Amino acid sequence: MSSNKELLDNVATEVVVCTKCCLWKGRKKAVPGVGNPESRLMLVGEAPGRSEDIQGEPFVGAAGKLLDTLLSEIGFSRTQVFITNVVKCRPPENRDPLPDEIEMCIPYLNRQIGIIQPAMIITLGKHSTACVLNRANLPFRSITQEHGRGHEAVILGVETVVFPTFHPAAALYNAQYENQIREDFQMVKKELLKREPVTR
Ligand code: URA
Ligand code: SF4
Repeated sequence: MSSNKELLDNVATEVVVCTKCCLWKGRKKAVPGVGNPESRLMLVGEAPGRSEDIQGEPFVGAAGKLLDTLLSEIGFSRTQVFITNVVKCRPPENRDPLPDEIEMCIPYLNRQIGIIQPAMIITLGKHSTACVLNRANLPFRSITQEHGRGHEAVILGVETVVFPTFHPAAALYNAQYENQIREDFQMVKKELLKREPVTR
């Protein structure tokens, strides 16, 4: 049987040459996702930005630096978790991904979830939260109402907990969000480690 690493590498190999939606035309590099194939914790952002498009890795720009800091404050490093986005190629001018782009790209995220079988999925920001809750047939009202608590979910047969928080990019404009994310991450740590260690 193939290992999680091999299966995730297969997804990444397909993503880097994917032309299923128009976003491939503007990309420098597709951004499949990075991290520990045995992680129990997945983080899902919206779409790559400028730095991510250049490096081919999620959350490596300013928002990513903040994310690393917030993760380290709860004792986790980037190498212990798995980080990806709903959409794997950068939208032009960082606009929001369009519904058809999300629809074409979401099978990759579904496969990543199926391989990793995360105990918890942190969704970063309203778009990824809406998208992931929606996959689990759970309602999304607003990020303000959904953040900071776990939503029990079944996504393609995988039992997990979706834990929404604000997007770290929002915290770069308003420090209030930084504290909110920090508080949410403290809850994540409690909820996750109550159940199991961060990696298998
Ligand atoms: N914002 C995202 O949503 N994802 C990234 O990878 C970087 C910034
Ligand atoms: Fe393929 Fe997703 Fe990139 Fe569109 S965004 S080209 S579906 S990998």
